[in-house]
Amino acid sequence: MPDLPSHASPYFSPQSPPDGEVEGEISLNSTAAPRSNPAESSEETHYESGQESSTENERGTATPALPGSFLSPAFTPPSTPGGTMNPASVLHQTQLSGLRHRVATTTKAPKLLDQLPSVECIVRARIPTTSGTEMFLHLYHNDIDNKEHLAIVFGNTIRSRSLDRVKPGETELDRMIRGAYVGKLHPGRISSWYDEKAEAAAAAAAASSQTTGEKGTTASAHPTQFAQAPLVRIHSECYTGETAWSARCDCGEQLDEAARLMSLPEEALPENLAHADAETLAANSPGGVIVYLRQEGRGIGLGEKLKAYNLQDLGSDTVEANLLLRHPADARSYGLATAILVDLGLGVDANPEGIRLLTNNPDKIRAVEGANREVVVKDRVSMVPLAWRTGGKKGINSTEVEGYLRTKIAKMGHMIK
Ligand SMILES: [Zn+2]
Repeated sequence: MPDLPSHASPYFSPQSPPDGEVEGEISLNSTAAPRSNPAESSEETHYESGQESSTENERGTATPALPGSFLSPAFTPPSTPGGTMNPASVLHQTQLSGLRHRVATTTKAPKLLDQLPSVECIVRARIPTTSGTEMFLHLYHNDIDNKEHLAIVFGNTIRSRSLDRVKPGETELDRMIRGAYVGKLHPGRISSWYDEKAEAAAAAAAASSQTTGEKGTTASAHPTQFAQAPLVRIHSECYTGETAWSARCDCGEQLDEAARLMSLPEEALPENLAHADAETLAANSPGGVIVYLRQEGRGIGLGEKLKAYNLQDLGSDTVEANLLLRHPADARSYGLATAILVDLGLGVDANPEGIRLLTNNPDKIRAVEGANREVVVKDRVSMVPLAWRTGGKKGINSTEVEGYLRTKIAKMGHMIK
């Protein structure tokens, strides 16, 4: 028998002994032989009982006797360690809370803030993307949480007012470093307000063609004239779906699709996106914004979302799982998105024409418009999963994502067509 060091002590293990019999508990608190079954006189049993008695000898005098309940701490939920869930009771609870939630959601409009949070674009940078399009990533701070919410802006017409605002004492270099510049940066540029290269290019273009209404390249020519209402997507962070290749949801695909639609030249847009009155369609991108909110897992956070996944593997759907964890089915709020859109000049004050919102969730329209309709949603553009559009040839194909989409339609009022 090996001479076991004291750290091999089983004292602090809350597990049952390997034979699964409750009598194992006795061996910790009594000096009686832990095994009474002669059939268990194997090497292994001998080893274990030796371990227990040796540690007991070493620790017995130094450590006060542990309470008999130590193996099953009172704070452990009765159904968790090695226990089995009672499917009937889980189902019952789910039905009850589901009912309660349904009452709550049908009687209560989406969470709207009387006053929009205050947001400020801290920095913006040009990001060339793998698809070949460029976008401007805007990072925001706000007065209601400490998270860095983002706006991914496609096209050159949408600008942040808080970013462009002049800060006392800042230099031209300061402004360019935080992204408050027009046109493009290039080595040696000295003014944030005037892009001499772009200006020269625009002048050359204007000379060769008679296109009027070309937007200026100075910040003072604040352009809010859109050929058509800009596309907007409000996207909530999903680490698993966007970064860790998860096929449990279609968040990654939706993010890609939103970016694709916003990067497309207008001619290439499907008919339902184009407007009859869109006279001369510019060859450049229609532009748009993906407001990327840092509210993982419908607002419950990554840790809780992973627990919900385990509950889903135990048979709950995505709504039931959240409710079993005592979270609302959807804990997200959109006041920050509304405030960011207003900052980007897409609110009614600067853009009375409104926006086109990419979403399958009709509740999101009211939520994004804000309590006082600070933003107007002119059209809803639905997002059909790639797998549905291509008969399963592209996109995500998993039983999990099918269940997820079905639940969104049946329980969360999503309209996917
Ligand atoms: Zn997701």
